[in-house]
Amino acid sequence: MALSTMTAVTKSSLRPRLLNGQTGDPALLVALRWQGRAVLIDLGRIDRTPGGILLPIEAVFVSHAHMDHFMGFDQLLRLFLAREGTLRLFGPVGIADCVQGKLAGYTWNLTDEYVFTLEVIEIDATEMHAWRFAECRRFARERLASTPFTGVCHQDAVLTVEAAPLDHRIVSMGYAVTERSHLNVRPEALAAAGLRPGPWLNALKAAVRSGAAADTPIVIAPGDTRPLGALRDELLLVTPGQKIAYVVDVLFSPANAARIVRLARGADVFFCESPFLDADLEQASKRYHLTARQAGALARAARVGRLQVFHFSPRYEGRYGELVAEAQAEFAGREVRYGDLDGRDAALP
Ligand SMILES: [Zn+2]
Ligand SMILES: [Zn+2]
Repeated sequence: MALSTMTAVTKSSLRPRLLNGQTGDPALLVALRWQGRAVLIDLGRIDRTPGGILLPIEAVFVSHAHMDHFMGFDQLLRLFLAREGTLRLFGPVGIADCVQGKLAGYTWNLTDEYVFTLEVIEIDATEMHAWRFAECRRFARERLASTPFTGVCHQDAVLTVEAAPLDHRIVSMGYAVTERSHLNVRPEALAAAGLRPGPWLNALKAAVRSGAAADTPIVIAPGDTRPLGALRDELLLVTPGQKIAYVVDVLFSPANAARIVRLARGADVFFCESPFLDADLEQASKRYHLTARQAGALARAARVGRLQVFHFSPRYEGRYGELVAEAQAEFAGREVRYGDLDGRDAALP
């Protein structure tokens, strides 16, 4: 389950899915196709999602601990209790207290033999603070070393996850998951070289992803070892990886807008909250949320490929299509300055 574990990669691509659709609690599952791995962004209720879909989750990235974003914690914990390995949970400062509080709500006298461990990482301005909660020690909280934070909160051989703290009267963390690169084998090149596919291709890809030197030997078969560089250039097609951005529960302020645009820039898919229609702008601002129009403007400014709005307020039940239409119209619309959106916000700093 370790994120750093390199698994067989034949064609890597991210498959995002809102577990509760556009209207239910936020929980975005990002599965890595072919790899049996997944990460989850936000942890709203997930009790209607089959366990088999949740078990590949290796890491959870929580925006903030308002109930609709965090009440699925118990469900996920219960699913993972009897498993081996470590589940990592990232979030803003304070999330470790929230986890500790939840764990304190149960009795753990019969779990000494279990090996499951929860690691909680708080993303602060320039550092990440980490704690371990081991099931065999009844989830007692243990401090781990802090690490520097400069925008990337997680990185492994396949994924990079960026985090951006946004203003929701508390911090609501925005995230962007990027596949570091697509490595595809060119079958015709393989055939032309007279080579047979095998596990050595995964070793080659793993070595390329890890940035190993061009003269690193790759064992193709007993007695047949060739340098990484030559095999990479001859056999692999390297293309930029996919990017998925996620922003939820934020005020439309110049500072937030700048951070969101930076985080989501060039994303293939941008999941953005749009709880309110622009007609209810005042309500949205008062509650530190976006309108659909604002979501559309942010998506356009970030030049994303596709905008997927969600987290609709139930007040629009029966009219959810209007939220989508408003966001998409703005996304596709003319170039506007941020200040044009509501006539009050200043242009970006
Ligand atoms: Zn909230
Ligand atoms: Zn919310």
